[in-house]
Amino acid sequence: MNNEELVQHLINHGALKTKEIIEAFRKVDRVNFCLKEYRHLAYVDQPLPILVGQTISQPTTVAIMTESLQPHKGDKVLEIGTGSGYQAAILAEIVKPGKVYTIERIKELVEFAKNNLKDYENVEIIHGDGSKGLKEKAPFDCIIVTACAPEIPEILKEQLAYGGRMVIPIGESEHSQDLLLIRKKEKFEIINLGPFAFVPLIGKYGFKLTQ
Ligand code: SAM
Repeated sequence: MNNEELVQHLINHGALKTKEIIEAFRKVDRVNFCLKEYRHLAYVDQPLPILVGQTISQPTTVAIMTESLQPHKGDKVLEIGTGSGYQAAILAEIVKPGKVYTIERIKELVEFAKNNLKDYENVEIIHGDGSKGLKEKAPFDCIIVTACAPEIPEILKEQLAYGGRMVIPIGESEHSQDLLLIRKKEKFEIINLGPFAFVPLIGKYGFKLTQ
């Protein structure tokens, strides 16, 4: 398989629909974001291990989250949970010359993503607790959270621009999570995109570390 076959699979299954998003998936080759020992599985539609027990998300999940977020050229985006940098690269292709700020709490992954994203001038990787957002760069047109929180952090809703979109998985455990799309208008509009499985968001407005 190759990246184009993966893109075709995502189109055929209805996960990819928008021309600009499809183009971004074509430009960003998933193999460049996988660990060497998993590169032979780069184009299979499944999550893969990266470092420190974390994962690069399943391509279908990345496609659904990106399509739901509807990022546009020139948008300012906040991603929480950089992981491999794959999702950030896709967003960066869509919004350029707009900017993607992406926060990762695990230092080893910050270094891994920095290396994977070295050709992207419109991505800034920040080491820290993304559950608090990034107040100094707010408001954001799009916020994407790639780890599951117990409830929607108010602080992230505040950092969304009027008309902005946020996608975030919410749930109390690995086995009961719903992916939510939140649109900021006069009121917050919340759409449930269905059940998904993500690693936990660990931080002040996420889950607490037990060890
Ligand atoms: N978006 C990633 C990609 O494209 O490879 C996949 C992300 S992985 C499913 C979720 C990531 O969220 C992990 O790397 C994890 O360390 C990170 N994470 C968990 N809690 C976090 C927090 N409070 N702030 C920032 N990152 C966090």
